[in-house]
Amino acid sequence: MEEKEELEWWLKELERAKDIGTSEEIEEAEKTIRELTKGEKIVPNCPACGEGIDSLKVSSHKIDFYTFRLIGKAQEKDYEEQQGELVTKGGDEFYCPECNERLFTSEKDAEAFLKGDEQVR
Ligand SMILES: [Zn+2]
Repeated sequence: MEEKEELEWWLKELERAKDIGTSEEIEEAEKTIRELTKGEKIVPNCPACGEGIDSLKVSSHKIDFYTFRLIGKAQEKDYEEQQGELVTKGGDEFYCPECNERLFTSEKDAEAFLKGDEQVR
């Protein structure tokens, strides 16, 4: 419980330091927070780069449409770009926002990771 309060204080201190503090103060706050959260993580760490991340980047798949026709007597092939695109259901590839490594291929795993479920890692 005490540690939690200390952590909260340092998190506030980090915000303050980022706003108006020096880089040494930011570093000190970050270092202390890292030490305090060693046992219990507030945010999960990327298994690829080790950064603490509280969100993931999700890919979506877009399909561009073209009109295909044969032109003239020569029957030249022609592709004409169409307006609009189809965005298919995204959310099946989850990437680290820090290092862009693909971490998960299912929402279930991504959710479990953000919840800090150790099993996923
Ligand atoms: Zn990463």
